[in-house]
Amino acid sequence: MKILLDNSSLLESLRPFNDLGFVPTMGGIHKGHLSLINKSNRHCKITIVSIFINPKQFNNKKDLKSYPRDINKDLKILKKTKKVDFVYLPKFKDIYTNNKKSKITLKKKDKILCAKFRKGHFEGVLDVMKRLTNIIKPNKIFMGEKDFQQLYLVKNFLEKKYKTKVIACKTIRNKNKIALSSRNFLLKKFHLIIGGKIYKKLVNIKNNIKYQNNINNFLAVQKRLLEESYKIKIDYLELRNKDNLKSSKQIRKSRLFIAYYLNKVRLIDNL
Ligand code: AMP
Repeated sequence: MKILLDNSSLLESLRPFNDLGFVPTMGGIHKGHLSLINKSNRHCKITIVSIFINPKQFNNKKDLKSYPRDINKDLKILKKTKKVDFVYLPKFKDIYTNNKKSKITLKKKDKILCAKFRKGHFEGVLDVMKRLTNIIKPNKIFMGEKDFQQLYLVKNFLEKKYKTKVIACKTIRNKNKIALSSRNFLLKKFHLIIGGKIYKKLVNIKNNIKYQNNINNFLAVQKRLLEESYKIKIDYLELRNKDNLKSSKQIRKSRLFIAYYLNKVRLIDNL
């Protein structure tokens, strides 16, 4: 596993290869990331993982400051997999050499779910993904369904512009069924147990949707009940079509999306 600390060593090292799988991360490596790496390893000859906490996608300074960082631990975990050929650890200037203001704007129809609650977040994500794709030129990028809206937006955006394919990877959960996330490192065991209980409730809610005449009303009531039972704040609880993210009135081809705060940590999930 070779560590690439800047763009010139990256260009030099990647030149001989033309079957590149890329796993972009912000570090805090966990089994969710490792499943993306495993898939890249199965699909591509070479796997490159990036660790870059992109400040431009954080709409909240406190969130950026508290984001888990432990590069030595991350490198140890990645090395142990024996499935990573390169780790790219760019500095801000490697990504933003061409520091033109991002011209990326979301369409009105895309300003839903997290885009509605985290202003500028996805513009920052699309911008950094465009830059990383220009630098690395991967054949395939592996991204998790845990961040379903991100996957949807990045896939549509990049596949229109480049030959690169964006491959969806299943959400990996812990034994309580809470979706693995670097932000979980900010939670105590007790919070993770609550997260697990919330997941179970969500499964129940999803199973009951088919019996409802008025889904929006049902979800609004369930949202309030969850907030009251677990003393959490929920940004949204919505059923949406998984292919176009339009609001959905049927369970077929749909996913239930949630974003909520547990101990001031914002978690998202979809099922
Ligand atoms: P992050 O480091 O949180 O930016 O995530 C990097 C990539 O890993 C993104 O494509 C995420 O969707 C993916 N990812 C994060 N958590 C999980 C998970 N629990 N299961 C599958 N993929 C995940």
